[in-house]
Order: sequence, then C-alpha cells, then structure tokens
Amino acid sequence: MLKKLVFQVLALFAISTLFSAFFHYFGVNYFIGFLVGTVLQIFAFSTFNTALTAYVALKNKKLENERIKEFSYQGLDVVCPCYKKVADFVPVKLNTQNYYKCKECNKTVSIQLTCDTAITTEPIISTELPIVSEELIKQLQERASNANT
Ligand SMILES: [Zn+2]
Repeated sequence: MLKKLVFQVLALFAISTLFSAFFHYFGVNYFIGFLVGTVLQIFAFSTFNTALTAYVALKNKKLENERIKEFSYQGLDVVCPCYKKVADFVPVKLNTQNYYKCKECNKTVSIQLTCDTAITTEPIISTELPIVSEELIKQLQERASNANT
C-alpha cells in the first residue's frame, strides 16, 4: 500500500518534471510547467478513477441482477426450524444436497426436497356445450313423472 503510494507520487513528480522541461524548452518558467503537469495528471487520474468506479459499479449491478435471475429459477422460500422461524430465500440445486446458514441462529440448515406426482387431466369445462336432443329431454321428463306416481 505504502510502496504503491510512494511509486505513484514518484511517477507524478517524474512526469511533472518532464512537463516542466517541455515548458522550459519553449521559454516558459519550469515551475509553471511543473504545476500544470501536476494539475493535469491529478485531473486525468481523477477522471479515470471516477470512470473506473462507475464501470465497476455497473458491472457488479449486472452480475447481481444475473444472480437474482438465476435464483428465481432455482430458489425456494424456506423457514428455519429454529424457534425464531426465520424465513429466507435460498438457491437450491436438484442434483446435490442443499444447505444454507440461518441469518438469525447462524446454524447450518439442510433443505429436504420432496417430490409429488399427479396425473394431468383434461379440464371438465369445455367450450362446446353438450348437445341434448329433445327426445332425451322427453324421456327424462317421463321417467321423472313415472317415479312421482
Ligand atoms: Zn434459525
């Protein structure tokens, strides 16, 4: 850390000295050249640093969004079996044992994935109404009246 800082200051002074030599070559006071070189370097470094920070923040946000997206595909809302009953959203994988650490009790919790099956059926409500013939209605009415008598 200190080594890096010393190197950066030395580099700053070295480049500023080059600026002052350049200015001196054209007949300008080399202190002014040194000052201009230093200010320009600090400005350039600051701009570069700001751009780099923004780029890294953007990249991290993008990675986090991808991670959240992955979690939504393979994640579960679970509740820790401890007395605090802390709910959490954790990623799960179907091909391995799944564990997570409870954020309240700090214990490792195992997730047991169970599986249920069901036969898929066609919906009972159809868009087409069943056609009932008038003859069938008459037969049903006769049966009903015979049953009453
Ligand atoms: Zn817990």
